[in-house]
Amino acid sequence: MTACLYALRNNKKVLLLEREAIGGQIAKSPKVENYPTRKVVSGAELSDQMFEQILELGVDFELEEVKGIEKVDGIFNVTTDYNIHQAKSVVVATGAKPRMLGIENEEKLLGKGVYYCAICDGPFYAGKEVTLIGDANSALQYALMLAGYCKKVHLMTLFDGFFGEKSLQDAVRKTANIEIMHNVKATSFKGDEHLESIIFQKKDGSVFEHKTEAVFVAIGQVPDNKAFEKMAEIDKQGYLVSSEACKTQTLGLFVAGDCRTKEIRQVATAVSDGAIAATNACKYLDKIGVN
Ligand SMILES: Cc1cc2nc3c(=O)[nH]c(=O)nc-3n(C[C@H](O)[C@H](O)[C@H](O)COP(=O)(O)OP(=O)(O)OC[C@H]3O[C@@H](n4cnc5c(N)ncnc54)[C@H](O)[C@@H]3O)c2cc1C
Repeated sequence: MTACLYALRNNKKVLLLEREAIGGQIAKSPKVENYPTRKVVSGAELSDQMFEQILELGVDFELEEVKGIEKVDGIFNVTTDYNIHQAKSVVVATGAKPRMLGIENEEKLLGKGVYYCAICDGPFYAGKEVTLIGDANSALQYALMLAGYCKKVHLMTLFDGFFGEKSLQDAVRKTANIEIMHNVKATSFKGDEHLESIIFQKKDGSVFEHKTEAVFVAIGQVPDNKAFEKMAEIDKQGYLVSSEACKTQTLGLFVAGDCRTKEIRQVATAVSDGAIAATNACKYLDKIGVN
């Protein structure tokens, strides 16, 4: 959306393609406390405001999933599930999606007790006990949010501590209805129609069954860049390789945000990339003589 903002303010015609819902990952964050100018803001509010800003500037928007891109005679053909759009320049900002545990019955029980977005599905379990697997910022944010309306949150981590911000760790440790269990590894989910329990393994190899009807898995994100593999180099982890100028090996194709190789994946850095990618895309368009 930041790339759109910069390109629109450069008087370019911009089409935004989104496969699911506006806002990406941040719309799933209950509380953002590290975006400049906003002491506390919900991720959904932040992304709604970004969208409003580009709508007012006249962005074209379609809810379509990009399946592939090719460049023929200087024009990009962007194939989606419904159309083929043509563009002189493209900014890929496809972010990342939740990492799955890859354990038995995870796929089968997806949406039936196994969830990845606590903001979307947590309210179904208000007043109940829930389980959360994860040890970094997303998991800590989810734990605090769920503790606000669930009876108890069982927070399970793989190692013996947390990796998130100190202030979040302190808040989680101080919350009475968050029960923390370190050094446990989920090995399978149990249940036929709905999640009934999770099998965990302890550090000493012993296993135990933890009864629960809902688990939120927050163990990080993975990129999903297959659609662009012909146009840009992809590293071993699946991220699009680019310089800090957000350029790729294909002239006119730029990348921004969590989908690209970078050190820090946050809203502030995604926004920065969007500004850089779009500015360079505009320079490219000006150079080839496109208004
Ligand atoms: C629970 C949670 C809490 C977080 N909290 C914070 C925080 O407090 N502060 C902070 O700075 N960061 C936080 N982050 C990280 C932050 O959300 C990301 O760094 C940021 O959203 C990255 O933005 P992005 O635009 O690069 O990618 P994304 O937000 O992942 O957006 C990419 C968008 O592209 C769409 N898309 C993907 N593939 C296609 C396709 N083929 N066709 C069409 N559309 C496609 C996706 O649907 C998505 O909407 C949090 C993340 C999570 C999950």
